[in-house]
Amino acid sequence: MQHNLWQAVLGEIELSVSRGNFITWFKNTTLIRQDDERVIIGVSNVFVKQQLERKYNDLIAETLRKNGATPAAIEYKIQSVSRARQEEEPASAPAPSQQQRMETPAYVASQNPNKPQGNTLAHGYRLGLNERYTFENFIVGSGNELAYAACQAVAANPGTKYNPLFLYGGVGIGKTHLIQAVGNAVLANNPGARVVYVSSEQFVQEFVDALRFKKNTDFADHYRGADVLIVDDVQFLAGKEKIQEEFFHTFNAIHQANRQIIISSDKPPREIPTLEERLRSRFVWGMSIDMQTPDFETRCAILQTKADTHGITLTTDVMEYLATNVQTNIRELEGALNQLLAFCEMRGLDPDIHIASSLLGSAQSRPKHISAKQIIERTARHFQIPIEDIVGPKRDKDIVVPRQVAMYMLRSELHLSFPKIARELGRKDHTTAIHSVEKIEKESRLDAELRTAISEIKERLYA
Ligand code: ADP
Ligand code: MG
Repeated sequence: MQHNLWQAVLGEIELSVSRGNFITWFKNTTLIRQDDERVIIGVSNVFVKQQLERKYNDLIAETLRKNGATPAAIEYKIQSVSRARQEEEPASAPAPSQQQRMETPAYVASQNPNKPQGNTLAHGYRLGLNERYTFENFIVGSGNELAYAACQAVAANPGTKYNPLFLYGGVGIGKTHLIQAVGNAVLANNPGARVVYVSSEQFVQEFVDALRFKKNTDFADHYRGADVLIVDDVQFLAGKEKIQEEFFHTFNAIHQANRQIIISSDKPPREIPTLEERLRSRFVWGMSIDMQTPDFETRCAILQTKADTHGITLTTDVMEYLATNVQTNIRELEGALNQLLAFCEMRGLDPDIHIASSLLGSAQSRPKHISAKQIIERTARHFQIPIEDIVGPKRDKDIVVPRQVAMYMLRSELHLSFPKIARELGRKDHTTAIHSVEKIEKESRLDAELRTAISEIKERLYA
């Protein structure tokens, strides 16, 4: 009876949510108990529990009601999927069970007894990861807790759930930190694992180099051989068809082998312009999580924790001042704190609100120092053309536009004079610079793709 009720509810829910969401959140749920007071739904982990409570509770209540159940409350209870397994073997059993072995084939393969044992690092590797990014030093609060829970679930069982795991959200809110924390945790559990972290920009660059030096197979083997592949800022693959194709094959190879893929982006898959449909659809196969700016309390906690590591306790007013004035970007928040601490340390002062406000005030009006060379390099790289070309004599359209963008950026970011802008790009005549800046200014108002390009270049510049 209960079973039928829940089957009916699930059947309806399946029609009203996406397939990915249904599989992730609903498929393994059960009805534990049902009476007039409450319905208790069994879920497999805390993460599903949170998501059902927060996002789907109304839908579940409504669907229950349609099927004749009107409990006063709905509760979600975690029932470990591995309960049966745990009952079979003591928790302390060191060897992976047969079931685990099947769940994570590639992962365990790196510890294959047929391979030489001893130094497990000999066949495991860590590439591109920064050890600084761990779960332990990540402050969990509203805005990032779902992402945190998902990352922990993936780190505990790579390749089995939430594959791919797709985190998206604005700049400086902890995406890179979290996805690298997964890699570091996987390696801590299993030094033999092959964990590869790569920014999508680096992926692009290496792909281009591989083609140029005819090393395509090395490139493919390298990425396709990962147990955990972490690709950061995947939005930079947008519009790059060849590379998307390569990435598509890499994705498939890893996914089919039940190994883990983790992706971050500044926007959800459906909003990444010129992302191939087949990649888009694969990105939503697993789980996508929206990371939000941490709330005020969490920002305060982050500040205090970071100050602690310098042996300094912030006064409440300083902490609140910083957390109020830097709201959207934890990287900037950290930057503001570091600036304050450095300033005070040099002068032997205790951080107070006056110093904080004078420093922060000037920091906001003064752009971070970047050079003309950096801007030109970034722009060339974004459009995948050699620097020699952007500053050289060529007049092809696919070089002229990036050159104009570079000029525009020199003006908007560094406020350089037009003659200086012209010289930086190897032009003799400064009217070219005036014309270019005006043109990009005008076009970027109409052309969303150009706007995106500009903001991506800026983002990388200031990252
Ligand atoms: P994103 O990749 O989203 O742009 P990052 O992961 O680079 O952001 O985070 C920016 C900085 O803020 C990093 O130094 C990171 O360690 C720190 N940070 C972000 N969120 C947190 C958090 N919740 N707890 C501790 N540090 C954080
Ligand atoms: Mg990042």
